Amino acid sequence: MGVICVRRDRVYGLDHFSFEQMKLSEKQQIFTLNVARLIMWANEQGYRLTFGEAHRPQITADYYAAHGIGIMGSQHCKRLAVDFNLFINGQYQRSGDGYTRLGIAWEALHEDNRAGYHFGDGNHLEMKG
Ligand SMILES: [Zn+2]
Repeated sequence: MGVICVRRDRVYGLDHFSFEQMKLSEKQQIFTLNVARLIMWANEQGYRLTFGEAHRPQITADYYAAHGIGIMGSQHCKRLAVDFNLFINGQYQRSGDGYTRLGIAWEALHEDNRAGYHFGDGNHLEMKG
């Protein structure tokens, strides 16, 4: 399946849309579609999800890094990460196998997907990019 690319500077008179940005934009689109797929899969498992953070502005990432609760180079800043809150049978899950299953399903959706349970951030899912 091809991706239709339209140069924004030609169509809208906006700044040049560089090749690097196009690649990131394409990754973001794949990421978002796979988030939708994961939500549907989770629903079939009886899991219920709510969003935590998805996009994180750089100023917020800098604040988190300064307070030891995040990193400056987070994939959230690239719109390539999402945090989910997981509910099973109406009960919020702080941790546990549900998040691991969610992470395994996430990684099955794309070779560049990584789940946060590998690095102690169980509700975090991201795509390399
Ligand atoms: Zn996260």
